[in-house]
Amino acid sequence: MSRVYNFSAGPACLPEEVLKEAAAEMMDYKGTGTSVMEMSHRSKAFQDIMDEAEKDLRDLMNIPDNYKVLFIQGGGHVQFAMVPMNLMKNKVADYVITGQWAKKACKEAALYGEAKAVASSEDEVFSYIPDCSDLPIDDNADYLYICMNNTIYGTVFHELPNTKGKDLVADISSCFLSGPLDVSKFGILWGGVQKNVGPAGVAIAIVREDLIGEALPGTPTMLKYSTYAESGSLYNTPPCYTIYICGKVFKWLKKTGGLEAMQKRNEEKAKILYDFLDQSRLFRNPVRKQDRSLMNVTFVTGDKELDAKFVKEAEAAGFINLKGHRTVGGMRASIYNAMPKEGVEKLVEFMKAFEEREAK
Ligand SMILES: *Cc1c(COP(=O)(O)O)cnc(C)c1O
Repeated sequence: MSRVYNFSAGPACLPEEVLKEAAAEMMDYKGTGTSVMEMSHRSKAFQDIMDEAEKDLRDLMNIPDNYKVLFIQGGGHVQFAMVPMNLMKNKVADYVITGQWAKKACKEAALYGEAKAVASSEDEVFSYIPDCSDLPIDDNADYLYICMNNTIYGTVFHELPNTKGKDLVADISSCFLSGPLDVSKFGILWGGVQKNVGPAGVAIAIVREDLIGEALPGTPTMLKYSTYAESGSLYNTPPCYTIYICGKVFKWLKKTGGLEAMQKRNEEKAKILYDFLDQSRLFRNPVRKQDRSLMNVTFVTGDKELDAKFVKEAEAAGFINLKGHRTVGGMRASIYNAMPKEGVEKLVEFMKAFEEREAK
């Protein structure tokens, strides 16, 4: 068996322990004589998987009772649409534009009403989080929307915006379960699981109950939060195997000390990389220091050919998927929960050696 260090932004690496458990249960899940992939979603065995996954997620995130946990297909892009379709009663929504994902979400919302960018960091290639202490929020806004961690640019909201009483909706895809979060500060939190939680195929939406049930007329059944809330996310066949793996990741997180311990480990890992970048003669991180993400660390040499050479040599040395997003270039190391500290240390060693060879 030969595993590499996988710095992919998503689908991303999963805890090896989880993969091994899933492998061991592949042919016969707990005496059922079938794999989870082959099981009816109406069976008791699968209902137990769903129930435990939800319970463990509630424990981990301390989700208050007046929030529903919904497992929804279609990934992040379907949430870009579901949020406005379910919340935009006044047909006004405000968006903070901190990167491509927020921009796409805003564009999608504009299909259903007036979607306004109330702040943006596009003027400096999204390398910072705009000041959100006094946003020009519309009196009629149905919600304020942010993308919490900007996967492509490597920034994160370390502080939440002043919503002036409006409900906050946040895309937490790329920082999902990376540390504690006060759920009660949000109307909706949603995340595609393929970044930090599980295999592709599900977005988990954590929705305050009073925001459910007033979808815009014409909203398809499968795009109403109420459909998932009323059926325990079992209105139709869910992505059973993805949910099963997410459940295992939740158990892994609980066993390894929960989200506070995870946050500590993530801070340690990110520090190793940022400390190196800050003193490097060759590489630099383009993000404003106070807005740096703990999950996605971007870096450049300033020379496109040298960047490409680095990515190629890194891959040959067993550090894969370090190429930056196709729209920004450079490099990006996604160091999600499942990336061990050792992987980051070894990457820095490799970067040091590359710098020795290449820096003038
Ligand atoms: C990857 C990503 C998305 C898009 O997710 P899809 O499931 O591919 O639609 C949206 N938001 C964030 C923050 C992401 O990292």
